[in-house]
Amino acid sequence: MELFTEGDPIADTKAPDGPIEKRWDTRRFEAKLVNPANRRKMTVIVVGTGLAGGSAAATLAEQGYHVKSYCYQDSPRRAHSIAAQGGINAAKNYRNDGDSVHRLFYDTVKGGDFRSRESNVHRLAEVSVNIIDQCVAQGVPFAREYGGLLDTRSFGGAQVQRTFYARGQTGQQLLLGAYQALERQIGLGNVEMNARHEMLELVIVDGKARGIVVRDLVTGEISTEMADAVVLASGGYGNVFYLSTNAKGCNVTATWRAHRKGAYFANPCYTQIHPTCIPVSGDHQSKLTLMSESLRNDGRVWVPKAKGDDRNPRDIPEDERDYYLERIYPSFGNLVPRDIASRAAKNVCDEGRGVGPTKLGVYLDFADAIGRLGRPAIEAKYGNLFEMYERITGEDPYEVPMRIYPAVHYTMGGLWVDYDLQSSIPGLFVIGEANFSDHGANRLGASALMQGLADGYFVLPTTIANYLASGPLDKVDASHPAAVEARTDVEDRIQRLLAVNGDRTVDSFHRELGQIMWEHCGMERSDAGLRKAIGEIRDLRESFWQRVKVSGTGEELNQSLEKAGRVADFFELAELMCIDALHREESCGGHFRAEHQTPDGEAQRDDDRFAYVAAWEFTATGEPSVLHKEDLKFEYVHPTQRSYK
Ligand SMILES: Cc1cc2nc3c(=O)[nH]c(=O)nc-3n(C[C@H](O)[C@H](O)[C@H](O)COP(=O)(O)OP(=O)(O)OC[C@H]3O[C@@H](n4cnc5c(N)ncnc54)[C@H](O)[C@@H]3O)c2cc1C
Repeated sequence: MELFTEGDPIADTKAPDGPIEKRWDTRRFEAKLVNPANRRKMTVIVVGTGLAGGSAAATLAEQGYHVKSYCYQDSPRRAHSIAAQGGINAAKNYRNDGDSVHRLFYDTVKGGDFRSRESNVHRLAEVSVNIIDQCVAQGVPFAREYGGLLDTRSFGGAQVQRTFYARGQTGQQLLLGAYQALERQIGLGNVEMNARHEMLELVIVDGKARGIVVRDLVTGEISTEMADAVVLASGGYGNVFYLSTNAKGCNVTATWRAHRKGAYFANPCYTQIHPTCIPVSGDHQSKLTLMSESLRNDGRVWVPKAKGDDRNPRDIPEDERDYYLERIYPSFGNLVPRDIASRAAKNVCDEGRGVGPTKLGVYLDFADAIGRLGRPAIEAKYGNLFEMYERITGEDPYEVPMRIYPAVHYTMGGLWVDYDLQSSIPGLFVIGEANFSDHGANRLGASALMQGLADGYFVLPTTIANYLASGPLDKVDASHPAAVEARTDVEDRIQRLLAVNGDRTVDSFHRELGQIMWEHCGMERSDAGLRKAIGEIRDLRESFWQRVKVSGTGEELNQSLEKAGRVADFFELAELMCIDALHREESCGGHFRAEHQTPDGEAQRDDDRFAYVAAWEFTATGEPSVLHKEDLKFEYVHPTQRSYK
């Protein structure tokens, strides 16, 4: 059977023409407005309370819309964004080190290996400066220098210091800012907060997104919620790999359900493998832990020069160490982008120079920095990360180098959106990690928080108004046939999962799926491996629907049922990821095809054939997806072979 068919090309019709630095202004001016009295009559559903969803819900409510907000955690402030450690980029140029909006734009387009849209990225760079002002005004405790000015540090893929941070807890502090703004609106009655509710279906009426079907995770009650527009801010799908740095609950269900209802899924194969994570230590693990990229500001990455050198790292003399990033990439050194650092770590381990019990590890060493700056300075910058490392590994990183290895961390793919962040379904907007929009084939460090907050505080509130102003939409309620059908689908699916009553746990299927994905659609992909993976995924999915054991009922708190629904969606996504990776016969960013590399082992793009966004349309279960190509045009940053040497 053919794996996919090709449909008509698509285009982003919302980004204005003209000089790039004027486009967002132009769009904002041209976008229609909704007057304050009418806003009160309109309801917007926001799924997700992370940085993207939390900031969007608070801002929309502040503007006067009625907002219904959903998350599956017990509190909106426990969204996965809370885990973000290292920082958030902004082109403030406080350091006077040559930064500018244009440079952030340039670094991001180049960092994404020329697979993102210039207009979107430029807007992101422009808005970045507003985010810092907004968050400072909210009281977010960014790190400050001795004199009281905001401090910054370096992140990968940049030669300026533009990353604002709050120790190793930047996500938590930013999320508290968004959360307090959200709570204020909840208190005022403008936001209806529904924690512990999971969206399981999208409701489409007359071709427009008009609602969602949710399950109360505590009581199991299913309800249908209607609105004038729906915003998905449901995060990324890295957990398809089972082991990742993401929170255990992260999943693809909200976006996948929307995809099955017609929203195109863009670039699903673009996955970010983060170079600095605590290595896998055995098969008992259900999650991996990130050691923030910020550590590469002061930590030096190395392995022994000799294969199989088992000596204690402190006994290996300087001239027998290979600081391979500094050697291969002298201008960026330890701060090369993540895709490059991850592949380099894999290469030295493949050569037999890996360290630690599994030999899948490299050292991240702070001895120089501690010698230069003193232990208190290192403690002040990274104290909580060092403590976390010691608690997990039992080793003191002030004394011995950390051991790190790449792990799945972030997904650049997501639902396709236009410049307005609207998906291919009118009235369905997608923001934050859930969309595909700004990072191309590789996201630079500290730019996910920037994108989530840009989308939520600044972009969506303008563009969604343009959509809502085209109303008024017909009044519809949960008795509409389309809403009833969506609800029935959810109920049937839950019954189907419960009815299998097999002999294997959901986790065992998830773990096996993750192994297939890591092996064949992880750091390196090949034609043969991807074809093999597609076959294995299909077989495993079939076995899942025959053998999975979901105990309990649907009318109670049932985590096994929650997981089963999510893993069922991961199976379908995994297949599409492999098909996307197979069709993209080039290497770019995080997508490294073994057949397409430069003589020195770097990613070899093929701009003539693949300078496009791959937007996939769902047809029917078991039928091939349809590929729609959106050509990428580069007027300001000319695509070149990326070099960080
Ligand atoms: C360990 C770690 C450290 C990181 N550090 C950084 C960093 O320093 N800088 C940086 O820029 N980026 C960092 N990132 C990436 C960044 O944290 C994420 O990309 C970003 O926080 C995602 O935000 P979001 O709002 O899009 O989604 P999330 O924060 O993942 O929020 C998703 C929300 O959607 C809800 N949800 C999902 N599905 C459903 C459903 N079906 N029904 C109802 N609700 C649903 C969840 O409950 C949650 O509220 C890090 C990531 C990790 C894993």
